[in-house]
Amino acid sequence: MAATSAHEPASGRRVYHATLTRIHEHLPGTRSLFLRLPVGERLAFTPGQFVSCELPVPPREHAADGAPLARAYSLASSPEDDELEICVDRVVDGPGSAYLFGLEPGAALAFTGPFGSFALAEPPDAHLVFVGEGAGVAPLRPMVRRALERGGTRPITVLHGARYEHELIYRRDFESWAARHPRLEWEPVLLTTEAEVGPIDALEELVLQRFVRRDADRTRRFWICGVGAMPGRLRDALRAAGYERKAVRAEQW
Ligand SMILES: Cc1cc2nc3c(=O)[nH]c(=O)nc-3n(C[C@H](O)[C@H](O)[C@H](O)COP(=O)(O)OP(=O)(O)OC[C@H]3O[C@@H](n4cnc5c(N)ncnc54)[C@H](O)[C@@H]3O)c2cc1C
Repeated sequence: MAATSAHEPASGRRVYHATLTRIHEHLPGTRSLFLRLPVGERLAFTPGQFVSCELPVPPREHAADGAPLARAYSLASSPEDDELEICVDRVVDGPGSAYLFGLEPGAALAFTGPFGSFALAEPPDAHLVFVGEGAGVAPLRPMVRRALERGGTRPITVLHGARYEHELIYRRDFESWAARHPRLEWEPVLLTTEAEVGPIDALEELVLQRFVRRDADRTRRFWICGVGAMPGRLRDALRAAGYERKAVRAEQW
């Protein structure tokens, strides 16, 4: 997917210079940054794609030859929106997220992109299942919006895993879309941890229970996103259970 701009060089690797217009704090450690490009510039992207932010993070030992620190952030906004939105988790001792959490409205932010094949351009004629853990729901949001806007009758399921109820970011969006579109089912999944037996991933278990063990239908399409091993593990389990390779996409942060 190409980025369009009056000043796009032939190489295609264009650096965009956006301005941070506002910040929305979902939770103390999770916030959305809204970015505006200069007048006349637009980023053409497919729902689900990400940008690579170029962060001037000192000290420069994080990057070779003083190059900025590059960190990927999924676009939580839709291509039709006036502003770009990224939803950022603060990572303990993480230089990139700490830098982004230090920005105030008016700050400049450079990025390249869009990148990634974890995306949804046109919804396939199938039951679509979106599985997000924590802020991993961010790239799913524009994909779900795109699928709803394109119309259709097939069900759309969104399973959002979080530790606690109040950590279900974008809940209001999904609930209001589900109220307007009966084919959309949004379901929160609260994750538990039991120290004695290790983490139990309720989200993974629910997906396998509902879409593997309960029936033989293997025509669904999946998009799975989250931090750590879960997305890859669930993708592999679904493929091993008979879903086609291309039917299951996962993005691991
Ligand atoms: C394709 C892609 C899209 C991404 N989209 C987002 C996004 O929309 N929002 C976002 O917050 N991050 C996103 N990330 C992660 C992001 O690029 C950085 O890795 C993250 O911000 C940590 O960078 P750092 O420099 O602060 O910490 P680092 O010192 O680089 O820490 C890296 C460690 O943090 C873990 N980590 C990465 N992301 C998170 C997270 N969100 N919460 C907790 N631990 C994490 C990594 O698994 C790794 O162990 C994405 C990553 C990829 C590859």
